[in-house]
Amino acid sequence: MRIRFWGTRGSIPVALTSADIRDKLARALLEASGRSFASYEDAHAFASSELDFSLTHTFGGHTPCVELDLGGEEYYVCDMGSGARPFGVHVLARQARRPATVNVFMSHVHWDHIMGFPFFGPAYVPGTKIRIHGCHDVVEQAFRLQQAAPCFPVDFAQLAASIEFVKLEVDKPTAISEGLTVTPHLQLHSGDSFGFRFERHGKSVVYTTDSEHKLENRAEAEGFADFFRNADVVIFDAMYALAEAISVKADWGHSSNIVGVELCQMARAKHLVLFHHEPANDDATLESLLKEARRFEELTRGDHSLKVSAAYDGLEIDL
Ligand SMILES: [Zn+2]
Ligand SMILES: [Zn+2]
Repeated sequence: MRIRFWGTRGSIPVALTSADIRDKLARALLEASGRSFASYEDAHAFASSELDFSLTHTFGGHTPCVELDLGGEEYYVCDMGSGARPFGVHVLARQARRPATVNVFMSHVHWDHIMGFPFFGPAYVPGTKIRIHGCHDVVEQAFRLQQAAPCFPVDFAQLAASIEFVKLEVDKPTAISEGLTVTPHLQLHSGDSFGFRFERHGKSVVYTTDSEHKLENRAEAEGFADFFRNADVVIFDAMYALAEAISVKADWGHSSNIVGVELCQMARAKHLVLFHHEPANDDATLESLLKEARRFEELTRGDHSLKVSAAYDGLEIDL
């Protein structure tokens, strides 16, 4: 299974500005001062191996959209944030005019999680099958509403694909197709959200975004540790730094990098991926949050080590 991140920012898409690019260039030039490069390849190798991640990359980008590529015939994707547009381009290119079957799993219907759907190319291709899975009663209503006049020029009813809404039962494993099983779990968030645990051939991925945790509530923490238990990858809402999450932004419905480490340690999960980045944070801030989480993991590590990454648009993880 390959996880492909098409959108990793929370709340609203964020683009690099010209000032950001000049800043990255100026800092890279400083790092390289005194060095000379004989070729583009030499310079590229220096940039890839010696510069900080925040100088050579950018964290998302698009709002949530995460693909699970099983290498089979059908597509599987969590949330339809603005990352659904490039995901749709990828589907159309790979299908080469054959209609696709796309299984969507909706954590909830806040705008940042549905806004990419009107720009999802396969929805306009006759013969395409789209199954939208979720636990809320309002999923279909939200998809129809965002494309209703006067807010969007193409009404949902005009889409060419056949679109089916499938209600999933909370905490119950459901077989989807091609050997993939999904179990939804209720999360603390305005209007509720649901995490999804995916399992296939002994591998497991947990997609858990827009979820606030009250770790002082032991039963709640243990419930999530069970949900994450031994997962190969946990894609986790780390919108805030811990200090923000427990003070000014308590009850805003999101979590932090440090809580992600604690829950994954309790669950003995293997790889934590920080996700749903705060739109106000620049790349240097997000890199420092990642370093802080890695340092905390090292300091609190018992007999189980946890890999910690930060998601960015374009990241792929194989398992
Ligand atoms: Zn969100
Ligand atoms: Zn939300």
